[in-house]
Amino acid sequence: MELTDTHCHLFLPEFDADRETVVDQALNAGVTRMFLPNVDSTTSARLLETANRWPDNCFPMMGLHPTSVNGEFENELAMVENHLNKGTFYAVGEIGLDLYWDKTWFEQQKEAFKIQLEWAHTHQLPVVIHVRNSFPETISLVQKSALAGLRGIFHCFTGSVNDAKMITDLGFILGIGGVSTFKNGGLDRVLPSIDPSFLVLETDSPYLAPVPYRGKRNEPQYITLIAQQVARIYGTTAERIAELTTNNAKQLFGV
Ligand SMILES: [Zn+2]
Repeated sequence: MELTDTHCHLFLPEFDADRETVVDQALNAGVTRMFLPNVDSTTSARLLETANRWPDNCFPMMGLHPTSVNGEFENELAMVENHLNKGTFYAVGEIGLDLYWDKTWFEQQKEAFKIQLEWAHTHQLPVVIHVRNSFPETISLVQKSALAGLRGIFHCFTGSVNDAKMITDLGFILGIGGVSTFKNGGLDRVLPSIDPSFLVLETDSPYLAPVPYRGKRNEPQYITLIAQQVARIYGTTAERIAELTTNNAKQLFGV
């Protein structure tokens, strides 16, 4: 069974003590592709180091995370742009809007998001979008950007059937993670109305570990648990879900 973790922050300090083991365990579990979204200028060197250590399995993205947007965001964006021009990246991410932690820089978040959507379009890369307490604002910015051919993932999707339809109508797909295993996560009621051809799997490691590891450090090998849960929801096998979602990821990221 070949699985893909479309969203894991393997380069963060949470993995410094045992990164080799974590990747080995992922590979042994069949998680042969791991996509790494950047956070900001403090993480990009470690992101590239991790991707260079496992060039066949770890694929870097470049972007500025919305919770790292502040008064300095223009300097941060210059760094992102420089990386995109120089290096090889598989997506622009993670980018988006976050109204959960802090609303102070919301105008700057919107500006940074718009600029990065345009860069993705210029570089012909998909985008990986972070949404927290900001779905209407985020979807409306993507709609308004009207960038022909722009594709990507709404990462850690936890919305309604209607939200999902708005996303897939735009040609975007949904990243399904550990929340699918949570008792009140709600995805068991939403997913049956969504064609699995619009899904990819993700862990968001080290965050949002699936049951029975909820609250602990998340790891890419737990994609197997998410595949099993999604399979249960659709009444099919984990093998089928692994194959489908890996194909969807291959199509989007081109690798
Ligand atoms: Zn993330």
